[in-house]
Amino acid sequence: MTIERVIVTGGAGFIGTAVVRQLLDRRVAVLSLDALTYAASPEAVDGDAIPAGYRLEAGDVRDSADVARVLTDFQPDGVIHLAAESHVDRSIDGPRAFLETNVTGTFVVLETVTSWWRELGGPSRERFRLVHVSTDEVFGSLEPDDPPFTAETPYRPRSPYSASKAAADHFARAWHETYGLPVIVTNCSNNFGPWQFPEKFIPVVISRALAWEPIPIYGAGDQVRDWLHVEDHASGLLAALERGAPGSTYLFGARNEWSNRALAELICDLLDGMVPDKRGARRKLLENVTDRPGHDSRYAIDPSLAERELGWEPRHTFTDALRDTIRWYVDHRSWAEDRLAKLGGYRRRGLGESA
Ligand code: NAD
Repeated sequence: MTIERVIVTGGAGFIGTAVVRQLLDRRVAVLSLDALTYAASPEAVDGDAIPAGYRLEAGDVRDSADVARVLTDFQPDGVIHLAAESHVDRSIDGPRAFLETNVTGTFVVLETVTSWWRELGGPSRERFRLVHVSTDEVFGSLEPDDPPFTAETPYRPRSPYSASKAAADHFARAWHETYGLPVIVTNCSNNFGPWQFPEKFIPVVISRALAWEPIPIYGAGDQVRDWLHVEDHASGLLAALERGAPGSTYLFGARNEWSNRALAELICDLLDGMVPDKRGARRKLLENVTDRPGHDSRYAIDPSLAERELGWEPRHTFTDALRDTIRWYVDHRSWAEDRLAKLGGYRRRGLGESA
């Protein structure tokens, strides 16, 4: 199917900007609808110049007038819905924003898109797809010997973030079943790469190691995450938009499980090689701190359905891509420092006192 015009909600975020860059590379016209919260980095698309075929609209997915306006104006062939509050630690301290953006925002997107889509003429209506982007965290926590998550794994969210994403996924599937809206749901494992907001695990480790500050490791650091490069996630979302079957669910991951401690050690070692420091090895900066309440112990994805049905596969080799990501943060140190400084610097969140 030829896709020519796509609306990306949350298109100024970490994954959204990667999706927008790939769409623009393919000469697809893009309208990015984004509330430009603290997490937005529109400069990851338009930092040098505003690319041809790209438009950024400040707007809120909770506001049906904003969503209706861009649909009517832009007449997309597809919507990729990424707008969300995305940081688990913040969801522990302030869950309401997660309910409002992730659940109500998704509801408003589904309702507004459905009204607009129903009025489309035959071919446009046939061609249209909505890709709802979710996380593997909705499936809950795996034991070490459990098989990886598949699209058949029951939902068992355990944090306010994952509960809000799970609720949104249920709404998205219900809109397909009830109203026939051509919705495709995707669940992805942890992403990494350039432009990730410096409160997330990998950028925190890099930034703290560079600044020679203690690097917090929650609990024993034995929680396992399955890491995928953000560009591989973005290519999966484009494949789902172009080739996904409405009503289907696709899981993206790279069969790349790491414990938090092992990954932090690898980052320290790579950084030591890249930017040696006379104080020695950065591993000694790792510091075990109080664990996150309800911390899931393991996530792992079985991506075989996406590989088989979408012809998708990750292109990045983990250690090389991690080295490139570290190099990017070394080269963009002031970007990460400025972003954190605007929030008053790095601060441990999510200990649950205010919940
Ligand atoms: P992010 O926090 O970097 O970006 C989110 C974007 O959404 C920001 O630009 C923000 O301004 C925008 N936004 C927030 N509230 C909004 C609102 N009410 N209206 C419009 N825009 C709003 O997040 P991300 O890491 O890019 O994640 C994007 C999506 O992918 C989320 O839905 C997330 O749940 C999902 N996801 C993320 C990961 C990951 O590892 N980061 C993994 C799987 C799935």
